[in-house]
Amino acid sequence: MLVQAGGTRFLIDAGLPAETILRELDRDATRGLDAILLTHEHDDHLKGAAGLARATGATLLVNEPTLKAAGTPLAAPGLEIFSSDRSFRVGPVEVTPFALPHDAAEPVGFVLVLGNARVAVACDLGEATDTVLEHARGVDLLIIEANYDLRLLGVSAYPWFLKNRIIGLHGHLSNDGAARAAVSAASAGTRAICLIHLSEVNNLAPLARDTVRAALDEEGLSGIRLEVVRPNAGGAWWTVPRTPPDDARMPAGAASGAAVMSRASAFADAG
Ligand SMILES: [Zn+2]
Ligand SMILES: [Zn+2]
Repeated sequence: MLVQAGGTRFLIDAGLPAETILRELDRDATRGLDAILLTHEHDDHLKGAAGLARATGATLLVNEPTLKAAGTPLAAPGLEIFSSDRSFRVGPVEVTPFALPHDAAEPVGFVLVLGNARVAVACDLGEATDTVLEHARGVDLLIIEANYDLRLLGVSAYPWFLKNRIIGLHGHLSNDGAARAAVSAASAGTRAICLIHLSEVNNLAPLARDTVRAALDEEGLSGIRLEVVRPNAGGAWWTVPRTPPDDARMPAGAASGAAVMSRASAFADAG
């Protein structure tokens, strides 16, 4: 996910090969990359991180347990450690990590704040815990995982151990789980929600969207912009604070304030 704010550009996770991400960045804009923040050590989140840091000079920001668990694949010159219980800055953006329940060393989500714009990112989580909901409450934009539909997962050819891992409390978030988080955030004022990290096998974008939309409708929460980033596809640019829908799809480089682009990683089930 690419974030652009006040002249600073950074990625949250880099799960595609570095060359692929570089190509995408070049297509968007020719400006450099300042930092790469990692949520956890699974390959679908860090595969391109070190290579990209070396190629762009971006600072790689990671917490200590993630670094230890990742080992040498994270060897990059500009490596900095953040503490998961403290906010830090990336350029003008205040970044607050928060804990996620996932089977990794110390997985985190992030709240990004620039001025009065707030974005929460929560990907790879077995359930939307109170901590997650607290951090997502009323943010301008909530970017959250909607990994699987329980029925599709049930009938899919995945082996049982993998199915159990995915539905476990430290696995991935279902469409229903994402819907609950969306309702909680929207009840507190969130008006834009983006669903990411959909499984190619155990989910369908319209199904994820409909599940979340139905839950919002049921609570009388209307007028909420909801988008789904399909697996292996790029998402739209979002600009926060909220702008009219016509202005929301801004080309990279033209965005003011904090803009966020989410791009799904190639192997949404792998980690
Ligand atoms: Zn993942
Ligand atoms: Zn993971």
